Amino acid sequence: MKIKKIVDLSEDLGDYTTCWAINSESKYTTNSEGDFTVSTITMNVHTGTHVDSPMHRGGWSHAPVGNQPLNKFMGFAQVLEGRDMNFDSILPSTEIILVKNEYAYNQRYYTEGERSWPWLDTSVWRKLVNEYGIKAVGVDSPSIDGRHLFAGRGNNNHLFLSRAGVPIFETLRNLEKLGSVQFWFFGLPLNFGTLEASPVRAVGIIEDEE
Ligand SMILES: [Zn+2]
Repeated sequence: MKIKKIVDLSEDLGDYTTCWAINSESKYTTNSEGDFTVSTITMNVHTGTHVDSPMHRGGWSHAPVGNQPLNKFMGFAQVLEGRDMNFDSILPSTEIILVKNEYAYNQRYYTEGERSWPWLDTSVWRKLVNEYGIKAVGVDSPSIDGRHLFAGRGNNNHLFLSRAGVPIFETLRNLEKLGSVQFWFFGLPLNFGTLEASPVRAVGIIEDEE
């Protein structure tokens, strides 16, 4: 593969990176002694760009994020506009769909009132999985469900996708830099053997055709 462009789709992580979940501030501790530096972090695994395994919204599936076949987290991908889902633009070889909701979530600090974001109806995800054979999906918002759907009400997108065994990438960045071309997507989780999600370094790689 000859690479034309690599687009970093990940949010940078630090104690300043907010997570939608309440009471989940990250804590970073760095100790230096001589020329050695060793750090310890405490953070919610849904902070920044991350992937949810079906275990996150399962009950029926306890497969942790580190116990999934790696091919679930990589493949030919396309970005679609959430405002205008153009299913006709999906190429037959596309396996992963990332949805750009034009959500200006670039601010690291936000107030309770701003904790809302666009989301798509479950029928969209059902169509992508059942009719187009999509094996993984992603969004640029903190969750694939609407903010108001937490606290036990709804959460239908997580529910459908988890039942279908489809990994969900959330808080993706820079989707606008990929345009409408097909690209290679990689978003590998850390090999957590007991957890439901993991931060990922998500990248989109556009191949050079020549
Ligand atoms: Zn999540």
